Amino acid sequence: MRFGYTDEQEQFRDIVARFLRERSPTSEVRKHMASDAGYDRALWRQLVTELGLTGVHVPESLGGQGFGYVELGIALEEMGRALLCAPYFASSVLATEVLRTVATETEQAMLLPALVSGEKLGTLAWVERGGQWDVAATTLTAHGQGEACRLDGHKKFVLDGHHADLLLVVARTRGSVGDAGLGVYAVDAEAVGITRRQLATIDSTRRQAEITFSDTPARRLGGTESAAVKLRQSLDRATIALACEMVGGARALLDSAVGYAKLRMQFGRPIGSFQAIKHKCAEMLLEVELASSAARYAAAAIDDNDSEVPALASLAKAMAGDAYMHAAIECIQIHGGIGFTWDEDTHLWFKRAKSSQVMLGDASHHRERYMALTEASA
Ligand SMILES: Cc1cc2nc3c(=O)[nH]c(=O)nc-3n(C[C@H](O)[C@H](O)[C@H](O)COP(=O)(O)OP(=O)(O)OC[C@H]3O[C@@H](n4cnc5c(N)ncnc54)[C@H](O)[C@@H]3O)c2cc1C
Repeated sequence: MRFGYTDEQEQFRDIVARFLRERSPTSEVRKHMASDAGYDRALWRQLVTELGLTGVHVPESLGGQGFGYVELGIALEEMGRALLCAPYFASSVLATEVLRTVATETEQAMLLPALVSGEKLGTLAWVERGGQWDVAATTLTAHGQGEACRLDGHKKFVLDGHHADLLLVVARTRGSVGDAGLGVYAVDAEAVGITRRQLATIDSTRRQAEITFSDTPARRLGGTESAAVKLRQSLDRATIALACEMVGGARALLDSAVGYAKLRMQFGRPIGSFQAIKHKCAEMLLEVELASSAARYAAAAIDDNDSEVPALASLAKAMAGDAYMHAAIECIQIHGGIGFTWDEDTHLWFKRAKSSQVMLGDASHHRERYMALTEASA
């Protein structure tokens, strides 16, 4: 496995980073945080048409660029660094990933190109009121076959669920329990019996919704076998993608803290020259580097079809969660009084760090899962 990036991958990072620096500075982030849609449609079109980011890891035959998860990780790191407001994680990571893993080739050919071209936004609805990330906790039911299939139930914390066009809904057949009877259902967001409500959450740079389905027409994807194993595989990959994004955010906070420590003078010297601040910055750097290595290794492991991907996903998420939160706390501390204020930008990343920390499982959950998976394979 390669640990460095190729020249082409570095060039790709530079292009994405430059684009986001120019088009998504924090003034834009603040604007879209306050808007109804929560993102800039013109910027989204540019991400699709100029950079092709919505299909980085999608095969060319389905309209994508045909790269791997390493490239997807690079794009997400830069989006996390810029705190991009866009439905990227919902549509290009979660929905795309589930379609690629669960749907048949025919279904992929039918549904994926519209997500890659940005014509439609997709999302995955799997968590419910209980807030459990594991798909076995699903209670939303599906009944009827084929064209007559209907969904009844409730989903919560659906990323970009208020404006997605294609809802991929995890449901179980009536009477099934645990992993049995789980399936992914494609639902047109305009279908009858759907009620959507945007949730007020701590992080308005990434929107969430709750959605109710009442006798809603749906189409089961990928045949009748339980989708539990494939769903968990998709969620592991999405977890690694999220860890990459979180590492980018943590780096932005580290850079901001170090920049301020070099600037803010106290007793005639920059505060960064005092050991107390220097040590804080060194600790942050170490944590961010370790989390970055774990996330990048995990992304490369997906491309290598490594059997340890589930454990590596947990390792990466646990480390990214700790590093991002710690960087956010220390960045506020190092900025002193101004770090506390609305006018300064640190709180924007703090909120994203907090929502990402719990999304797809927090660090304690993933440390326990990592232990269990590594013990089981020993
Ligand atoms: C909620 C709130 C209310 C406030 N209300 C008032 C008010 O009513 N009146 C008022 O005058 N001010 C007020 N302040 C401002 C407050 O007094 C300052 O925030 C405080 O004195 C710290 O100064 P600073 O923000 O300039 O941080 P800085 O002095 O710039 O410190 C930044 C960082 O450097 C560290 N640091 C600084 N010097 C050293 C050193 N020599 N060695 C090691 N580390 C160092 C600090 O611990 C901190 O982490 C308020 C602040 C807050 C957050």
